[in-house]
Amino acid sequence: MSRLVSRLSHFPETIFATMTTLAVERGAVNLGQGFPDEDGPRSMLEEAVRQIRAGNNQYPPGRGFAGLRAAVAADRRRSYGHSLDPATEVLVTVGATEAISATVLALVEPGSEVVVIEPYYDAYAAAVALAGATLVPVPLLLDAGSDTGWRLDHAALRAAVGANTAMIIINTPHNPTGHVFGADDLEVVADLARRHDLLVLADEVYEKLLYDGRRHSPIALLPGMRERTVTVSSAAKCLNVTGWKTGWAMSTPEIIDAVTKAKQFLTFVGVGHVQPAVAHALENEQAWMERLRGDMQRRRDLLMEGLDRAGFDVKACAGGYFVIADAGPLGVTDATDFCTGDLIDRGVVGIPVSAFATSGDSGHLDPLVRFAFCKREDLIRDAVARLV
Ligand code: PMP
Ligand code: GLN
Repeated sequence: MSRLVSRLSHFPETIFATMTTLAVERGAVNLGQGFPDEDGPRSMLEEAVRQIRAGNNQYPPGRGFAGLRAAVAADRRRSYGHSLDPATEVLVTVGATEAISATVLALVEPGSEVVVIEPYYDAYAAAVALAGATLVPVPLLLDAGSDTGWRLDHAALRAAVGANTAMIIINTPHNPTGHVFGADDLEVVADLARRHDLLVLADEVYEKLLYDGRRHSPIALLPGMRERTVTVSSAAKCLNVTGWKTGWAMSTPEIIDAVTKAKQFLTFVGVGHVQPAVAHALENEQAWMERLRGDMQRRRDLLMEGLDRAGFDVKACAGGYFVIADAGPLGVTDATDFCTGDLIDRGVVGIPVSAFATSGDSGHLDPLVRFAFCKREDLIRDAVARLV
C-alpha cells in the first residue's frame, strides 16, 4: 500500500519525465520536454567554471548573491521600467519552480482557492495541493480569430473569483499554448485582484521570448498591482541553462520576506557558483539573448511549416518554447494515445496538451499536441522529415 500523502496521490510522474524517458528508449526526436540542446553564452559558462575553481563552493547568502539580485533588478528596469530594490525585493530561488512553490506555500492559506488558466503548467497544481488549497481552472479558448490563436474567457475568469479566492496565477508567454496575454487580459486580472484584494503570481519565465515584434508587459506595472504581485522568472529559458536551476521571485519587501520564510526551509539557499555567472550574462550578454530570440522565431517558423506539411492544423504561437498542433485532421481524437502510439512509432515525441488540464471542461484540448522548438534546426528538420 502506498504511503504517499493523499494530497499528492492523484499526481502522476510528470509528463515531461515520462515522455523524455520514452524518447531515449525509442531513439525518437524529443520535441516533448522543453529544454534547449545548445549551450548558453560562452562567457557565462566560463565564469561558472572560474567560480568553482576560485572556491565559490559553499552556501551562498539566503536571498542569493547581491551581484545577481542587482543584475536581475537592472535587467527588469532596462527591459520594462520595472524598478526593484535588489536588497529587499528580489529573492534568488532554485529555479522558477521553487519560486512558485515558496510563493504559494507562504501566501496561500489551506482551504482557500487559487485560480489558474487552463491548460496550465503542472507545478501550479502541485504547489496548490501541497498548500492544502483548491485549484480553480479557467479555460483558455482556441480562437482562430485571435492573432495569438487563443483567447482568455474573461466572463469565466470573473465567475471563478469568489470570497475564498486567494490568488490568481498567470503565465505569459504561456506554456503550453504560446499565447501572450494582451493588455485587456492583464487589465481584467488586475481589476479582479484589486477589487477582491487578491495576490497574483505572474510566471514570466519566457519573458525574453516574444515573437513578431511583440513586447512583454509585466502585470506588476499596472496601477495597484506592485503591492499584490509576485513575479517569477528564471535563467533557464533566457540563457539556455535549464540544468542550473536558478530563478528568482520579485515583489515588495513584505511579500519577499514572506516567500523567503518558505524558501529557507525548502532548500535553504540556491546554487552558489552559477549565480555570479548568471549575473555576468544578464549584464554582458544582452546581444546573445536578443540573438536567441531571433533564432527561436526562425525555429518556430520551421517547425510550424513542417507540421503544416505533415497535415496538422497548426495554431498560432506568439511566444515561448512551444507550438500547438491539432492532430484532428490526421484522424486523431485522443492525443495521449497518439503521442504514445503513432507519433512515437514515427520517431517523434510530443506532449499531449490534455496533460496540462484537470477540469472536466477540457475536451477541446484532447486532439492537441505540444511540440517544443527550442531545439537545433537539424533536429527539427529531422523530426519533420519523419512526419511528412
Ligand atoms: N514556469 C513555466 C511556465 C515553465 O515552462 C517552467 C519550465 N521551465 C518553469 C516555470 C520552471 O522553471 P525552472 O526550470 O527555472 O524551475
Ligand atoms: N518547462 C519545461 C516544459 O514545459 C520542462 C519542465 C519540466 O521538465 N519539469 O517542457
